[in-house]
Amino acid sequence: MLLSQDRLLERFLRYVRIHTTSRDDADCYPSSAGQWELGKLLCSELQSMGIGDAVQDEHGLVWATVPATLKGDLPVVAFNAHLDTSPETSGDGVTPQVIHDYSGGDLCLPGIGGRVIEVAENPELNQLHGQTLVTSDGTTLLGGDDKAGLAIIMELAETLMENSQIAHGPIRILFTCDEEIGHGVDYVDLDRLGADVAYTLDGAGANDIDVATFSADLAVVTIRGVNIHPSIAKDRMVNAIRAAGAFAALLPREQSPEATSGQEGFLHPYVIEGGVAEVTLKILLRDFETDQLSLQGEQLRQIAAEIEAGFPGIAIAIDVRSQYRNMADGLTREPRAVSFAVEAHRRLGRTARLTTVRGGTDGSQLTERGLATPNLSSGQHNPHSPLEWVSLDEMAQAVEVTLELVQIWAEQASPGEVTGNLG
Ligand SMILES: [Zn+2]
Repeated sequence: MLLSQDRLLERFLRYVRIHTTSRDDADCYPSSAGQWELGKLLCSELQSMGIGDAVQDEHGLVWATVPATLKGDLPVVAFNAHLDTSPETSGDGVTPQVIHDYSGGDLCLPGIGGRVIEVAENPELNQLHGQTLVTSDGTTLLGGDDKAGLAIIMELAETLMENSQIAHGPIRILFTCDEEIGHGVDYVDLDRLGADVAYTLDGAGANDIDVATFSADLAVVTIRGVNIHPSIAKDRMVNAIRAAGAFAALLPREQSPEATSGQEGFLHPYVIEGGVAEVTLKILLRDFETDQLSLQGEQLRQIAAEIEAGFPGIAIAIDVRSQYRNMADGLTREPRAVSFAVEAHRRLGRTARLTTVRGGTDGSQLTERGLATPNLSSGQHNPHSPLEWVSLDEMAQAVEVTLELVQIWAEQASPGEVTGNLG
């Protein structure tokens, strides 16, 4: 095996110690200083590998190219991971715990609070005896989402730079910011990336290829009433709060995230704010069938008409904004993106699973913009949680998959001649 698990582990531990939690309330990009710090570190590590064009741009994104070892006009393959971690759990002062040669059983986390990662809730642990696992101390998240992805791509880059006998075309590396707060690809210029295909390394476990995501819209429902002092309110006040309550009650419960799974979509009210004069409801519209989103929007308009009829004086405005589209729609335009990933697993004696995400990835948006970008497994488990953990062995397997993948893209495109990495 070409790659070093020790180096991969050291890399991962170095990255998770940097506090890169993204912040929803920030008015700057990226939303936290730690993302600048981690991006700068990665950039200097890439330069130390001999990748001269590695840069951190004015938005904090890191761009780099591993030069081709083959001559000719070969497809450019990009790999992406994100620098930030979820604001749902603190990422400040991550103290990783490394468990070598895991022998089974629950994982006790050493920090205050005595949290435990239970096998009963993580049955996949039963398949991982003998592996190296990493957890946090239980007081923060670990940050495997997505520093596992960063470490895998960095290890891929270093392995390629050290082994110029590996035949591949140009490999583009892109590390993005603020993915967890929905702004991962805001400043990604596809012309600058110049890739023919891309892969995000941000998936769970091992051997999954995420090939379908939700299509997603956001509906902002503004309910306007009439406010006046309660003492003189008779026949004059129109209370938007009462109308909003009635509106929320009419959203079908069987179409909620709490009541759906698998291939079912949902409508999910997740923010309500306001007062007597005006209430705003934010509702997520989600379905794997993009066409269904317009029917969900129509459902909201029907509920609005019913509420307006029942509450004279109430006016309801519904603004539906597109968020992202099912990756599967765009992947049909570049079927090799998935079939070559399946082939990479096959050559390693593994069977890839084609999987569906009840959410979106940065790849959903990149694919929608014309760059086919499936998501690959990266050894992550329990993201966004103090009970997060990764398997180093699964991360190493992901490096192997990417190594196969770059070779498959090169050989399928056109047989070329090895020139040497820096030649
Ligand atoms: Zn992620």
